[in-house]
Amino acid sequence: MNVRTKLAIRYAIAGSLGRLRRRNESLRILTFHSVQAHPNAMVHMPPEAFEEQIRYLAEQGYATCRIRDLVEAWPAIADRKRTVVLTFDDGCANNRTIVCPILERYGMTATFFVATAGVGESRQAPSAEGLAEYRDTEFLSWTDLREMAAAGFEIGAHSHRHVMVARQDRARAREEIALPKKLLEDRLGGPVCSFAYPKGHADAFADWTRPLLAEAGYRAGCTMMGGPLSTRCDLYELPRTGIHPTDDLKRFRMKLDGRYDLLRRL
Ligand SMILES: [Zn+2]
Repeated sequence: MNVRTKLAIRYAIAGSLGRLRRRNESLRILTFHSVQAHPNAMVHMPPEAFEEQIRYLAEQGYATCRIRDLVEAWPAIADRKRTVVLTFDDGCANNRTIVCPILERYGMTATFFVATAGVGESRQAPSAEGLAEYRDTEFLSWTDLREMAAAGFEIGAHSHRHVMVARQDRARAREEIALPKKLLEDRLGGPVCSFAYPKGHADAFADWTRPLLAEAGYRAGCTMMGGPLSTRCDLYELPRTGIHPTDDLKRFRMKLDGRYDLLRRL
């Protein structure tokens, strides 16, 4: 049996199991990256596919909030149904030119996490670690970020050079966590309360990085560990569900209602 067939069988089983159990409408944080028409479909989500997912959320009556709102209303908000937090990592310029207008059309808000070494008026792709896949992509400028913040979107930090902080020594990790907060606050003029760990998987954060976030003044940290939110979640290690550029509406719905979590456990 080849890999594709195995995967198709797992999807069919997860789909059936999902139909058998009650629909899971728990609060969930979704993570997107670049949204633009581009030949590399593994990195950039087509705008039409993105809008189809946003339209689905709107049609299903989902409300959106920002990480900042989550922190303010924690822990009561963890029990809220049909609410999603939309987050966008890495700071591609299309987040302002394509994503924000679509979100505004549907009355939705979001949190955008940027690696500050990549922010500049040249909009050139940074040479920062881990962002090589965006070689030919424009990045957000400080002007863009100011406009997005003024429109009510939250701007959060994604380290300075897009490094996995848990793989750095303590001094470098502290700088990668504290510096982007200071830069964003100085340039945008408002408090920055959320941090998203670059890569976000189990080896991207650690027990010793959590106090560094608190020490820098953040109130929330986001991982890519997947799964819904609950009052048991640690605000400094919030799970997020990654939406891949190639996810069609069917898979998006599976990720939204928890069937995809089930599939990963099969
Ligand atoms: Zn990233």
